Amino acid sequence: MHVLLPGGVAALDRLFPGRVAELVEHGAQPFDYGQSQFYMIGKWMPRIQTELHTLSQSRPFLEGHIRRWVGELPNVAIIDEAHASALLWDQSRARVRGVALQRPGVEEELRGGLVIDAMGRNSRVPRWLAENGFPVVPETKVGIDLGYATGRFRVPERLRPHHPMLYIVGPPPQWTRVGVRLVVENGDVFGAMGGYHGDHPPADLKGFLEFARSLSQPEVFEVLAQSELIAPIERFRIPSAIRRHYARMTRFPGGVLPIGDSICHFDPAFGQGMTVAAIEAEALASLDFARGSEDAIRREYFRKIEDVIETAWELSSGENFKYPQTAGRRPAGFSLIRRYKDRLATCGDPDVVRDLYRVFALTAPPQILLRPRVIARALGLRLAA
Ligand SMILES: Cc1cc2nc3c(=O)[nH]c(=O)nc-3n(C[C@H](O)[C@H](O)[C@H](O)COP(=O)(O)OP(=O)(O)OC[C@H]3O[C@@H](n4cnc5c(N)ncnc54)[C@H](O)[C@@H]3O)c2cc1C
Repeated sequence: MHVLLPGGVAALDRLFPGRVAELVEHGAQPFDYGQSQFYMIGKWMPRIQTELHTLSQSRPFLEGHIRRWVGELPNVAIIDEAHASALLWDQSRARVRGVALQRPGVEEELRGGLVIDAMGRNSRVPRWLAENGFPVVPETKVGIDLGYATGRFRVPERLRPHHPMLYIVGPPPQWTRVGVRLVVENGDVFGAMGGYHGDHPPADLKGFLEFARSLSQPEVFEVLAQSELIAPIERFRIPSAIRRHYARMTRFPGGVLPIGDSICHFDPAFGQGMTVAAIEAEALASLDFARGSEDAIRREYFRKIEDVIETAWELSSGENFKYPQTAGRRPAGFSLIRRYKDRLATCGDPDVVRDLYRVFALTAPPQILLRPRVIARALGLRLAA
């Protein structure tokens, strides 16, 4: 399953104008983020109109469409089944000139002006840099020990959810489990079960449903238990969320830039990774390589993507740190920030909740939640006119 948050839908629409509509025509489920059913902080969150356009679909569906759009670009050639086995360097070993590729029966060198590292969370670029004399990439890790399992179900018509997305989170720290019910293309429903700190969901249907039954709210179990599993349950293990601070490196080669999970791999339970990657792709597309030094362009790229990574990281790790078992350094003022966020969510003022959702949806920076008007309304104070 894959939710594309409103910030990601907007970025995708700017990268491929008009094509998001194609996803919907083929079955992706569009919805207003504010109408989602979120059980968080021990309460159901308010459902409001936000005009924050969100999309729900399976991962192969979304990846298949985007791959086709990219393949249709006139200057793109897709090489299938290729494994990047090393970076190619210039003589001074200060600049990357391409990648070594391995395909069945073929080894070749692909030379180019810029290599984008999109190898995901297990990217080998940090290792390749170290092997070539560059400093270790600084990392922040948040140890979550998350087990995650997803199953695709065919749901009887009478049980088909009225809204595509329902999320049950904890509540932490007592409940280490999350559950998601998501309608995707064809009207199928994905059930996703997650458990932190060793409380992992099993991959057999009986155990999966037992796990769903044990969530703090019954809505996910009630639908899945009466539906038909139509594909094997898949399991994932995510020991840590990892953020690589490339911008802090004192030395970095020219000719290579990272993107997506290779920079930051979030807790997948919050569905942020693709949105961050889409916003990074936009930042990459906006760089003018004909102007300025390579160093300046790289700094510009890292500066442009820093805010969205920081926002998504703070949001998801803020949830993770509600569990005392979560390993890593809690941000300064963590408990104050947490209490304020809970207050924003429960204050009952739709304008404040809308602002909160804009931040969750990665369409607005968290600073909007510190404007005097928002603080006053969240705390129920009246500001002098
Ligand atoms: C269970 C789960 C659920 C998730 N749900 C959501 C969600 O609902 N919404 C959301 O936004 N995000 C979600 N995410 C996160 C999202 O999947 C990632 O953020 C996103 O896929 C990152 O894209 P990427 O291209 O950077 O990395 P990846 O999708 O990991 O792609 C990296 C690719 O590089 C390839 N590769 C690696 N090494 C090499 C090599 N040496 N040579 C050639 N190819 C190589 C890999 O095979 C892979 O295809 C979820 C993640 C998980 C694990």
